[in-house]
Amino acid sequence: MKVHVANHPLISHKLTVLRDERTDSPTFRRLVEELVTLLAYEATRDVKTVSIKIKTPVTETTGLKMAEPRPVVVPILRAGLGMLEGMTKLLPTAQVGFLGMVRDEKTLKASTYANRLPDDLSGRHCFVLDPMLATGGTLVAAFEYLIERGASEITAICLLAAPEGIKIVEDAFKDSGIPITLVTGSLDEKLNEHGYIVPGLGDAGDRLYGVV
Ligand code: URA
Repeated sequence: MKVHVANHPLISHKLTVLRDERTDSPTFRRLVEELVTLLAYEATRDVKTVSIKIKTPVTETTGLKMAEPRPVVVPILRAGLGMLEGMTKLLPTAQVGFLGMVRDEKTLKASTYANRLPDDLSGRHCFVLDPMLATGGTLVAAFEYLIERGASEITAICLLAAPEGIKIVEDAFKDSGIPITLVTGSLDEKLNEHGYIVPGLGDAGDRLYGVV
């Protein structure tokens, strides 16, 4: 798995405000959107293109356009939903599928409770949106799901990642033969005993949408 930590002063600034416990939900949601757009710029660097001839008002020239089939954006419910707007700003023609995953707070194991995705993902580049790569359980389950349906390439965009989670995902897919990339805004220090990222930002879903 390729890991890209997007070091950029704007990303660090926005992440710092996001982490601050005093930041309210409306500000948190706006910052997540802005951060995802910045991370998406890095994550789409290798998106497939084809050349195309066009006429400008001045002359004929050759440009590039995104290849078909278009990428599939897969937010992981619930917290990944807060990342969708920022992603589709950059990739407005991508198809969007949904994967609902929940982790058991005792065992920290992830399970799927909902999905709305094409059955056949052959040849598709899937962009998975999940704000926190913590234990890695959710991403492993999501990637397995996409690979079973034929995804040809997977890129995960996570605001924060913990080293423990990265290792779990790396080990799980090292022999998969599928190019997998992680783009994150920060590689944090560790996980605590409750599976939370340290220093982290707390529960991303609660901070986006409030405690339910
Ligand atoms: N999920 C979260 O929302 N926060 C963490 O720190 C870990 C998992």
